[in-house]
Amino acid sequence: MLKAFLEDDSAKNQLKKSVYQLIHKKGKASKVDFLNEINIPQTTLTRMVGELEARGLIRTSGYGESSGGRPPALYEVVPNTGFVIGIEISRTHVNIALLNIKFESIGQKRFTLTYSHTPVVTIDKVIHNINVLLEEHLIPIDLLLGIGVGAVGPLDREKGIILNPEGFLAEGWKDVYIVTMFQSAFAVPVFLNNGANTAALAEYEYHEFENEDMLYCISGYGIRCGFINKGVSLNFREGDTSSYGHIIIEPNGRTCICGKKGCLNAYVSFDAIFKSIEETSNQTPFKLKTVDELLGLLINNDDILKKLLESAYYYGIAIANMINILHPSTVVLHGKLIYESEDYYKEVIRVSKEHMYSTRRNNVVIRKGSLGEDSAAIGAAIQVFRGLFK
Ligand SMILES: [Zn+2]
Repeated sequence: MLKAFLEDDSAKNQLKKSVYQLIHKKGKASKVDFLNEINIPQTTLTRMVGELEARGLIRTSGYGESSGGRPPALYEVVPNTGFVIGIEISRTHVNIALLNIKFESIGQKRFTLTYSHTPVVTIDKVIHNINVLLEEHLIPIDLLLGIGVGAVGPLDREKGIILNPEGFLAEGWKDVYIVTMFQSAFAVPVFLNNGANTAALAEYEYHEFENEDMLYCISGYGIRCGFINKGVSLNFREGDTSSYGHIIIEPNGRTCICGKKGCLNAYVSFDAIFKSIEETSNQTPFKLKTVDELLGLLINNDDILKKLLESAYYYGIAIANMINILHPSTVVLHGKLIYESEDYYKEVIRVSKEHMYSTRRNNVVIRKGSLGEDSAAIGAAIQVFRGLFK
């Protein structure tokens, strides 16, 4: 069984794990591929591959290209030998993804966070949903390898605590021992990271060969970003990727919710955009509640589009600053406005390219996220699998 195999930390098992991990990473691999990457005698390798196959953890899957003789057999991991759960906890919703070990989506649950969703209510509901997902897909609990959580920071990742995030509607989101809470319901490893980092990890994993260093920016009710350097998340001690929303982009500018002036948040968060648009009304005052309402108002209304593009301008400047500091090869933008307003998206890119230091301009790819709403939850699940190999 995969779980027992992964939990076996004996020295004897380490090499076998490396072979398994290599097959997992490559998708399909031949014995020649292994010998190129792992320095072991061919006879040892043949024995290990045989053992992994006998245990039902890997299987042959077609043949590679022949280099003269018989074409080499290709191996892949057997997908449904283990499953991981990834949970995204944002300020507005919870997304739960069930993936098999090939990171294929098996099932999903999602719910909105309201004024009644305190941590206890929310986590009970997540636990219930995980059990329902496992039942619906007839997955016995002992095939669950672990749970990953991508949450809003700041966090204490080591101790598994959500510290004191801003912006939750319900009371009580302070010092939440989230890892302990999940561990008391499921006897599996639980990993906590920031949602911006897990989302970045998901994008990276799905496009590994095109990216070396990736900056992942989320814009919504808060602004967050994650950075992956050669496959590894850049983790700050408190996992506080929300601080990105408080970089100063206009000295002495608008007052931010944090009390300072000119923060990115005060120009780019949904609430900031709503407020600036509400101010355009010189007749009947109105209040914007959702981005869908905003998108509806945009049709044939140049004043509102102008306000939206003003926000895109500030976002573009912030991204240019981040690019100049971190030198990513790819920047992935994630957020409802990015996905649903082409004008907004194009303006963000135009302004960031305009403000980037010239040598970076032609070396960076800026694109939308390819996994949409699910990226943080999928990445939280991927993080579990990575954690099991440490
Ligand atoms: Zn601020």
